[in-house]
Amino acid sequence: MPRKNYRLIIIISLLLLTGFIGTSVTSYLVSSAALNHHITHTELPLTGDNVYSEIQRDLLKPTFIASLMAADTFLRDWVIQGERNPQKIARYLEEIKVKYNTFSSFFVSDNTKQYYYSKGILKTVERQEFRDQWYFRIKDLDTDYEINLDPDMANQDTMTIFINHKVYDYDGNYIGATGVGLAIHAVKKMVNTYQERYNRTIFFTDKEGNITLHGQNFSKPVKNIFEVKEIAEHRQEIHAGSPLSFQYKKDNKNIYVNNRYIPEFGWYLFVEQCGDKAIAKVRNTLVLNLVFSFGIIGLILIVTNLTIASFQKRLTKMASTDKLTGVYNRRAFDIIIDQTLKEIQRKQTPLSIILFDLDHFKRVNDTYGHLAGDYIIQTTVGTAARTIRNSDILCRWGGEEFLILLKGCDLGDAMKTAEKIRTAVASQPARYGDDQICVTISVGVTEHTGQDTKETLLKRADKALYLAKASGKNRCETETVRPGPITP
Ligand code: GH3
Ligand code: MG
Ligand code: MG
Repeated sequence: MPRKNYRLIIIISLLLLTGFIGTSVTSYLVSSAALNHHITHTELPLTGDNVYSEIQRDLLKPTFIASLMAADTFLRDWVIQGERNPQKIARYLEEIKVKYNTFSSFFVSDNTKQYYYSKGILKTVERQEFRDQWYFRIKDLDTDYEINLDPDMANQDTMTIFINHKVYDYDGNYIGATGVGLAIHAVKKMVNTYQERYNRTIFFTDKEGNITLHGQNFSKPVKNIFEVKEIAEHRQEIHAGSPLSFQYKKDNKNIYVNNRYIPEFGWYLFVEQCGDKAIAKVRNTLVLNLVFSFGIIGLILIVTNLTIASFQKRLTKMASTDKLTGVYNRRAFDIIIDQTLKEIQRKQTPLSIILFDLDHFKRVNDTYGHLAGDYIIQTTVGTAARTIRNSDILCRWGGEEFLILLKGCDLGDAMKTAEKIRTAVASQPARYGDDQICVTISVGVTEHTGQDTKETLLKRADKALYLAKASGKNRCETETVRPGPITP
């Protein structure tokens, strides 16, 4: 392929590559940005809302039960009347536990400091006892209830979420605390259910950031969430209390976080999602786009290449052949003869030339018209082409004059071929419309001497043709080389 074509192919490739890669990468960047925006601003906040609603439903139920217990007239009357018959309150607490399917239920009297549970009296709470601190804390609390995480002594110290609610008498005096406990493993199970349902990581922290509750497969190696630098950067916003979404990169992973304060527990809910699966989809699309683009570029290049090659072939043919007869023109002949002369010099093989011209052709034109003349030229060339070998080269020398290059052919063989062509032309009148047109040709033949230049060779062929014309036409003549002067 010519160098110019290579350059064209390279320019086309570069343009296509820039175009395809440009659009693919731009669409990848736009899609990832849109995806990021969608996850942080729509998807994750929505999941946060849903999880929060479920938590409200699941965890606020016990809070509601505790508040019902605190307002229960039986409980209050029983305390006011002096806490007689502890079995009654034990039965009441048992009923609550069974009916609402809680892990434990309790009442602590402020008067006697007795801790009642479903089986009777568990103990007496004491101010000095570390485990009983919660009771003395709740007494001084501004709010009516609190939720806290403690081991439950009534259940072999299982970690339990307690909802502790203040109880007042009918005059508004504080008379004790009641409530229910949920085993932490039950709550964890609940969190696991949310995690599975929403395919996100869910956990809770207290105000200081200590992780209070999380589900299975929790992979953060920290006890306090603010030990994660990227989350600590959002500490102030988290403490501001409004729902918050942000994104950070950890270990080459994109992590999206939604955070909100749950005032009922005084905890923060974190919903986290690793965005890499979604991003991987966009990345796969990019790869697919690029593969597709390269395929298309390949096809375009193949098609371009084939088209250029075919155009070139046509152009070369057009530039080297004669339009009327389809044989080589003089331009092509000039190139061919130069190559042939070099070739015979190298190989030392004979080369002969036949030059023929149609006899009295002006008369044909004058009698039958120019188109008929064209037709006669075509049929004569056809006859000549059929007579010669494939390796012989036929060319339109000018007007109605034609030249044949016979490689590997000496004068004798060339004369035989010339004679064959002449007799074939003379014996095959051409039918043109109603007319039978009979033409003859005069032929000049010569052989390359070994020293001939292109000019001397052609000149001799021309002389031979002239001789044939001068000797009466419709004949073959040869111009032999006269021996040069003998030099001493
Ligand atoms: P001679 O036997 O001496 O060759 O006589 P001639 O009539 O053939 O004379 P000459 O070779 O000098 O004339 C060639 C004529 O052929 C003149 C020109 O008008 C005509 N001719 C040349 N090319 C074409 C062509 O492509 N088509 C047609 N129809 N005529 C052509
Ligand atoms: Mg002629
Ligand atoms: Mg002529």
